[in-house]
Amino acid sequence: MIPISVVKLDTRAEELVLSAIRSGQIVQGEFVEQLEHEFSEMIGVTHAVAVNNGTTSLIAALEAMGVGPGDEVITSPFTFVATLNAILACGATARFADISTEDFNITAENIAAQITPRTRALIPVHLYGQGADMTAITALAAEKNLLLLEDAAQAHGAAVDGTPVGTFGVGSFSFYATKNITTAEGGMITTNDDSLADRLRVLRNQGMRARYQYELAGNNWRMTNIHAAIGLSQLSGYNQQVKQRRANATFYGEALSDIPGIELPKQLPGREHVWHQYTLRVTSEARVTRDELVDQLTGAGIGCGIYYPKLVYDYPPYYNRADVVPTSVPNAEMAVREVVSIPIHPQLSASDLDEVAGAIRTIMAGR
Ligand SMILES: *Cc1c(COP(=O)(O)O)cnc(C)c1O
Repeated sequence: MIPISVVKLDTRAEELVLSAIRSGQIVQGEFVEQLEHEFSEMIGVTHAVAVNNGTTSLIAALEAMGVGPGDEVITSPFTFVATLNAILACGATARFADISTEDFNITAENIAAQITPRTRALIPVHLYGQGADMTAITALAAEKNLLLLEDAAQAHGAAVDGTPVGTFGVGSFSFYATKNITTAEGGMITTNDDSLADRLRVLRNQGMRARYQYELAGNNWRMTNIHAAIGLSQLSGYNQQVKQRRANATFYGEALSDIPGIELPKQLPGREHVWHQYTLRVTSEARVTRDELVDQLTGAGIGCGIYYPKLVYDYPPYYNRADVVPTSVPNAEMAVREVVSIPIHPQLSASDLDEVAGAIRTIMAGR
């Protein structure tokens, strides 16, 4: 069995977690601050604020930016549900811009078509580890005076035109178990704005600045020291892991080229992709459907995943609501029908990679 993702913590993680437990500092503690410091250095940003998961980091960022009822937020229809849930949790209204099939991310042009007088913020999602076209999106946000929050949950360390994602606007990262960097559950907000960072630190701790001095109606959004210990163990080896993901992507790029009906993912010019997922499109020219490919890969013991099988708002909880405004998104509609992600994680051996590529070639040759 070759799984789509592997959670592998090393002996350094064991040592750090044990030391957090033995120190008695299991909730607040030095590892949280150290993780914030090291992550901010890695991203190249002044402030990194740790929270308990990546959904919280989106909600906290929106709340600290002042997004709320009456505001519209434009995001991707082709994302994990957390992006939409965060907008709704803040009481804002969600609108959707179509994606590009080149990088699966929303574009400045499609965002511009959705802007209304009530638009307050944009949330581009850097899907699968590749940044959206942030140079154009940042310019649009500046021109229209809109807040910019990047959902970088899948794109730790990715860059666009030499600038790291999470620094164009406010950044939101996830450290869920299967993300490129994990703390088991965790999240991080990145910003160069001192007062925003300060507000986030107060908000995540019940709105409290000093003991029992409440400045804001806050929340308990804190990351624990045990979780931060896991995160610290992941940062030092991360560059190497990304290198391995890139090497695996290069392997597939060669091994899977020229299969009729298979479109390989592209790293676009100026983008530094961190390959959280390696996502193929099975087009209408293929002799086998996307779902048949998934069934047969699964039958052959090769893990694969459909991220995502439907548009984010195409589920009953989001039907017929005034705060979810669907639109025509033909590229995203095509993506939900055609995408399939195959294993790309750094734990794959050369023979695993051969096996995955061989199986895809055989299956795609026809029934
Ligand atoms: C994982 C993910 C999130 C949410 O992160 P959690 O840590 O699971 O709460 C948000 N957006 C995207 C695009 C994600 O992939």
